[in-house]
Amino acid sequence: MSSDKIDQISKEIESASASNKEELEAYRMRYISKKSVVGELFAAMKDIAAEEKKSYGQQVNEVKQLAAAKFKELIDQVNQQENQNRGLDIDLTLPPTQVPLGGIHPLTATRHRIIEIFERIGFNLSEGPEIEDDWHNFTALNFPENHPAREMQDTFFIEKNPDITLRTHTSSVQVRVMESEKPPIRTLSPGRVFRNEAISARAHCIFHQVEGLYVDENVSFADLKQTLYHFAKEMFGQNTKIRFRPSYFPFTEPSAEIDISCLICGGEGCNICKGTGWVEIGGSGMVDPNVLENCGIDSQKYTGFAFGMGIERIAMLKYQINDLRLFTENDIRFLKQFRPLL
Ligand SMILES: [Zn+2]
Repeated sequence: MSSDKIDQISKEIESASASNKEELEAYRMRYISKKSVVGELFAAMKDIAAEEKKSYGQQVNEVKQLAAAKFKELIDQVNQQENQNRGLDIDLTLPPTQVPLGGIHPLTATRHRIIEIFERIGFNLSEGPEIEDDWHNFTALNFPENHPAREMQDTFFIEKNPDITLRTHTSSVQVRVMESEKPPIRTLSPGRVFRNEAISARAHCIFHQVEGLYVDENVSFADLKQTLYHFAKEMFGQNTKIRFRPSYFPFTEPSAEIDISCLICGGEGCNICKGTGWVEIGGSGMVDPNVLENCGIDSQKYTGFAFGMGIERIAMLKYQINDLRLFTENDIRFLKQFRPLL
């Protein structure tokens, strides 16, 4: 094995190149592996004359190191090439792509705020089925059969079974709570309700209510008024005033509509409040003794108040939204006006 041969192999190694994994492997087989040309140079050691062995051995070792160094260089080249092919050649000075953040739907935000206000004064949360039977939706709430009061709420009935309805109010949840728990009861029931109404800017066949119920000894109308006054100030601002107008609901006696002072004009009168200075937010009253008795609560010992509000109505007042349909159309231009959840 001559020095010429070793020089030739060294030159080959110096000028070797690789642009992919296959070429890299070919290089490894030819110059690094046991059966490589460098391996052959080592194998030839046994045929070298004793006096030349030392010098030959040095030369072959140099070739081996050269081959290893070149191999490392080629691996780096190939890896870099592959990264570029994968598009990882990033320009870090480019501005980033905007990722849009989701927001909370105004109805959800309003429901959360209402719950938060009442939880702080000791109300717990209760939920019930959206498909109800006649007892929980009507009869237990003092709507006698065939009584005209049932027509106050346009109801979706299941055709084959008039006993089953989509609930028209969340008062049905309050019946379930009173049937299963003993006073004192302080509960808030938010949820979807269904009325057979044409969809317009002011009405929808599906909307959301939140109802509150407080049953204990000596609960009075003053408690009702103070509780709702507290709510109105927390929800709409400390300067909000509240007033009650006599009304009729089958399940409360006496009953009252709840008005708050107009948020736009502060009571001066504007087109939102139709010049009256007041806007309605819901209904309320003292729980009718018949309802307490229907649910197994002694009406001689206990009294209670109840109130109900439309969550859409509260959100429309709070955010100055003038069309109920906006809540369900999912128009991104509407939704993105509400702050994202951060
Ligand atoms: Zn007004």
